[in-house]
Amino acid sequence: MNRIVQIVHAIEGYDPDALPVDKARAAIRACLTPVTATERVPVREALGRVLAQDIVPGIDVPGHDNTAMDGYAVRFADLQAEATVLQEVGAALAGKAFTGTVGPGQCVRVTTGAVMPAGTDTVVVQEVVKIVEGKITIPPGQKAKQNVRYAGEDLKKGVPVLRPGRALSPADLGLVASLGIGELEVRRRVRVAFFSTGDELASIGTALKAGEVYDSNRYTLHGMLARLGVEIRDLGVVRDDPAQLEAAFRDAAANADAILTTGGVSVGEADFVKPMMAKLGEALFWRIAMRPGRPMAFGRIGNAFLFGLPGNPVAVMVTFYQFVREALLVLGGRAGDCAPLLLEATAAEPLRKVAGRTEFQRGVLCREDGVLKVRITGQQGSGVLRSMSEANCFIVLEHARGRVLAGESVQVQPFEGLV
Ligand code: AMP
Ligand code: MG
Repeated sequence: MNRIVQIVHAIEGYDPDALPVDKARAAIRACLTPVTATERVPVREALGRVLAQDIVPGIDVPGHDNTAMDGYAVRFADLQAEATVLQEVGAALAGKAFTGTVGPGQCVRVTTGAVMPAGTDTVVVQEVVKIVEGKITIPPGQKAKQNVRYAGEDLKKGVPVLRPGRALSPADLGLVASLGIGELEVRRRVRVAFFSTGDELASIGTALKAGEVYDSNRYTLHGMLARLGVEIRDLGVVRDDPAQLEAAFRDAAANADAILTTGGVSVGEADFVKPMMAKLGEALFWRIAMRPGRPMAFGRIGNAFLFGLPGNPVAVMVTFYQFVREALLVLGGRAGDCAPLLLEATAAEPLRKVAGRTEFQRGVLCREDGVLKVRITGQQGSGVLRSMSEANCFIVLEHARGRVLAGESVQVQPFEGLV
């Protein structure tokens, strides 16, 4: 037996003809091995990339105790229960320190970010201070050490702050920059090749013949893949022809970490896609207990993982978001849980649902009277791509659940944030 088949068959309760969504997800996950190659990129270009090094601060940030407000740096011990009159002996600005030492009864004018003058420990905001004939009057009620930011309170020298496997956020870029680091080691991007299969497909720019449809799957795939930040190779429409399919699969496998195809994996489909997958590599053909998106192939050709998605346009998007997205993130070296965020919402209307499969209905989530409510986007056929276009979330109806009544709680996956 070959590797993927072996791993997947070892999963408890694995049944290719009635595979629950969770099990399919676990099966894929068990087979994946992330790319290991890395490259160095400037900090700006590291946004969204997967960090491949530890970030250990070589300095404290901030590097010195400094003031959090504009006002006066004082010695707290000087302050009385009533107002206290102090003598101003100088100023400290951000980037321009006060060089002397502040003695009893003295204070220093400070601006936000200025190094705390030697001898002071507390900052009084300028708004409460009275200045009469050059004398500084501090009102009662100040707290020791107020309005001071301490050296290393953001980042501490020697204490790791970012770990490998992290997808870098805008905040991370700033954090790295605050350490004076200009370049980062990141994993190389995952390479994905994809094509559509089907004799009924026409490419944009050609006139439709009877019975043909324009290929839309390569465009939704392009959009979803582009957002994931992977390298994309679009191999076009491939006819249901053994020679053409073999050439496309071999070309894709030679250069990619993952191959995505759409169409031709339905049960009982009498074309060449499935036999070709099996001939060139290892392929499992699943009937997943879900709707839409029941048929799917998973396997490997050469070094590339293979995802044979269904042909129906909505099923393509659903299977991509539920299986492929997470798989590509894992392949890219992302650590931790990459599953889509699930929120709870209230069904604003009854929802038809059959127990024994997970359904991904297309929903519109909105806030009504302070409550998150969701309703479906009309016709839910797996060929109705408009149902995806109009939606802003999936309504995820669990495997065991039957029909849903208005007012019941349901889980939703918002599209926003579903990179
Ligand atoms: P299949 O999975 O090949 O049986 O295809 C199921 C349905 O999806 C059929 O109605 C196909 O015409 C349609 N379909 C397959 N591939 C595409 C595509 N690339 N773009 C648009 N529709 C497609
Ligand atoms: Mg077909």
